[in-house]
Amino acid sequence: MKAVVLENKGVLEYKEVPSLEPGAGHVRLKVKASSICGSDIKRYVDGHRMYPLILGHETAGIIDLVGEGVSKDYIGKHAAIIPLVPCFECQQCKRGYYSACHNYSFIGSRQSGGFAEFVSLPEKNVIIIPDSLFFEYAALIEPSTVARHMLSLGDFKKGETAVVLGSGSIGLMLVQWLRILGAKLIVVTDILEDNLRIASKMGAHVTLDPSKVDVEKEIQKLLGDGADLVLEATGVPHVLQQTLPLTRPRGKIVLAGNQPLDKNLPLTFIENMMRREISLIGCFMSYSAPFPGHEWTDTIAALLDGSLDMDTMISHRYALSKAPEVFKTIGTHQLVHQKIILNPEEA
Ligand SMILES: [Zn+2]
Ligand SMILES: [Zn+2]
Repeated sequence: MKAVVLENKGVLEYKEVPSLEPGAGHVRLKVKASSICGSDIKRYVDGHRMYPLILGHETAGIIDLVGEGVSKDYIGKHAAIIPLVPCFECQQCKRGYYSACHNYSFIGSRQSGGFAEFVSLPEKNVIIIPDSLFFEYAALIEPSTVARHMLSLGDFKKGETAVVLGSGSIGLMLVQWLRILGAKLIVVTDILEDNLRIASKMGAHVTLDPSKVDVEKEIQKLLGDGADLVLEATGVPHVLQQTLPLTRPRGKIVLAGNQPLDKNLPLTFIENMMRREISLIGCFMSYSAPFPGHEWTDTIAALLDGSLDMDTMISHRYALSKAPEVFKTIGTHQLVHQKIILNPEEA
């Protein structure tokens, strides 16, 4: 089969690799659409723990083969990948905290992913979707679940106010979920005008460009002491520091942007957080019990009732064979984009 293989840091190849047969307890998915995640780009640009690796974890397709012990009823069903492969046996898995599993794998990061004609994965790692759902929308289920999970962690309630810092794909999914769940006011920041325009279309009430306005002052004008919930989706240190003055006393901050590990946070941040009794909450992936969690079923329900707009999230579509060129242009910041779909059939 053809696959997009990360051979080394900055080296991505579209090539022939041995075809996969599903082992016991596994199914094989014939890939119909995959989407490029920021983490795929990071693995390409910064390098990864293992080579060679077929990238991709935002993927949907049709189950065409099943391994020993798996019901033949799966064959022909449409499905999306659930990329986390927990052990289901450790202390954290038993509590339902699957993303804290002591011994997990991850499709497209620790084992072969979805940028291929086929992917083999455990039966528990597919979520069946209705045949009526477009595959490219189903490929975007995973990033939606991350946003939905952030709002669960932040205990978001209808009628609350929220600030979304960063309107990349997670930021845009956050705006959509805040709209769906009934936020009173949704404010979004980004330095890219295009992203802000899409955020407005997706339901943001106010968009702010921090390169043009003082975000803190604007939030004061809108919300006085700050928002109920602030969501960090940029991974930029000074944006992380900015979360506190935007959050009301006793409000919550949920962090999902991966920060550069060579930077530090001043202890004044903790002091200010304590004085305002603000909760700082970490987010890692998108899982809850029972596996994979309501984030996944909520997303499929919102796709089916039309409240989740995936079409506007997609800015580009390419054949899978074009992936090496696409990664090169994104890696050198030459392509302004939202979600990019890779389609194996046009290869
Ligand atoms: Zn992803
Ligand atoms: Zn575990």
